[in-house]
Amino acid sequence: MDHIQFPDSPLEVPNFLGGAWQPGSGPVHEIRSPWTGMAIGKLYSSNASDVAAAVEAAKGPAKAWGELSLKDRTAVMFRFRDELLARMEPIAHSVSSESGKLLAESKAGLMKGIEVLEFALSLQNLDDGGKMIVSSGVTCEYRREPLGIVAGITPFNFPAMVPMWMIPLAITVGNAFVWKPSDKTPMTSLLIAEAAKAAGLPDGVLSIVQGGREAVEAICDHPDIKAVAFVGSTPVARSVYVRATSNGKRALCLGGAKNHIILMPDADPEMAASGILASFTGCAGQRCMASSVVIGVGDVDDIVAEMAQRAASMELGRDMGAIITTESLSKLRMAVQQAGTDGAEILADGRSSRPKQSEFESGNWIGPSILDHVKPGSQAACDELFGPVLSIVRLKNLSEALALENTSPYGNAASVFTSSGAVAEEVAKHAHAGMIGVNIGVPVPREPFSFGGFSESRFGHGDITGMDGVAFWSRQKKVTQKWSLQKDQNWMN
Ligand code: NAD
Repeated sequence: MDHIQFPDSPLEVPNFLGGAWQPGSGPVHEIRSPWTGMAIGKLYSSNASDVAAAVEAAKGPAKAWGELSLKDRTAVMFRFRDELLARMEPIAHSVSSESGKLLAESKAGLMKGIEVLEFALSLQNLDDGGKMIVSSGVTCEYRREPLGIVAGITPFNFPAMVPMWMIPLAITVGNAFVWKPSDKTPMTSLLIAEAAKAAGLPDGVLSIVQGGREAVEAICDHPDIKAVAFVGSTPVARSVYVRATSNGKRALCLGGAKNHIILMPDADPEMAASGILASFTGCAGQRCMASSVVIGVGDVDDIVAEMAQRAASMELGRDMGAIITTESLSKLRMAVQQAGTDGAEILADGRSSRPKQSEFESGNWIGPSILDHVKPGSQAACDELFGPVLSIVRLKNLSEALALENTSPYGNAASVFTSSGAVAEEVAKHAHAGMIGVNIGVPVPREPFSFGGFSESRFGHGDITGMDGVAFWSRQKKVTQKWSLQKDQNWMN
């Protein structure tokens, strides 16, 4: 295992305004590493005056940047990609040390973010606007315009990837972007800002305001911020959506999830066992795409037994990372306890698991836990626990399985493991989720296919990446022109 490099002493985490570092004026919070429990950062949180200062510093740059051609902006974004790749190691160490991820997971997250950046780079060739002769001598065309100053609020679990769902698209189409990173994992934002500066992104085009609720509410209320994207838990996604839209802004707010995998008895046992295990233990289950409910249809006992055996042999710190906070850890332990009380059979119990290395003994650890015969409607079947806990509900047939999946108020992802194309099609058609997997436990679409769920997993219209993301961060002007000397009447007159 590669060793994560933790900061020697707590790093100061200031705001990034107009290309300069400046501490926020709100209270200071300690950032502790989920791996060790040690303080690794000091966050200066922001209030409304800091958000106003960020917007002020972005005004001039937003105008100048928005007036550049798409090709000129893209040239800077190409360098941004190079600067991020050059910083792959420090970014991965930062992500891991503050979020609890394994190093390989941190690198994979950054690469997924860079995939969105690469899609943004392709816009100079793809986004040709479109022009038609719509009547004799009359043309009509689309012109894409930036909105001005826009903002993004990101969660703890992907400190580099989720911001990269937003920043490349918003900036490439010509906006200035104000980023409010998670107050639990703010440190990686410093490295991303450094990469942007080294790439030659003009000062003020990317600003960072650190902090929590106060900074978020100030972003939603600021009249010069035209659009707000949010990724985080459902209750906060809903409240940010309501506050931003009631202030006349565009908003797209992605929320939490409770993703289901339908496990059919004809599934390939190896594909199913490894796919399901990776889905609920990857990033220690702290992914909005993690599947936390398996609906076992018919006799899937062998696959379940195989998963339980593999889960029990996973080593913490090597095969799975840590949980973000001590509060989240206690919630997970209590949920396993409650599932037992509610009648579930605890097939794998990670509550007393610890990593082998003594340096991690004060970290936030729970091993993979598998709960079988979980009752539909119970806490383990319905609530987003956001940890490595898998609930298995047993049902008789596919219709019952789809009916249960459809009761979830969320709608991020749903998967099926089967060797039948007809069953796969049935699930793709009837599962209530924005992202469907067939024999894939984490069905994250690859760009240019966009990312986004349904219902309580997403407030607002459209997905956050792909062409939907481009549309969210821009507006289209329709220009209709007549330059021919033709004087006859047509429907355009
Ligand atoms: P969170 O909702 O606690 O925090 C998200 C952001 O909102 C952070 O920047 C935080 O500082 C801020 N915030 C927290 N409380 C706030 C409040 N009361 N008012 C205003 N702002 C507030 O989420 P989290 O714990 O950081 O992230 C985990 C959640 O995010 C899970 O529910 C997970 O499913 C979800 N998530 C969803 C997606 C998706 O694409 N749908 C992706 C990643 C994470």
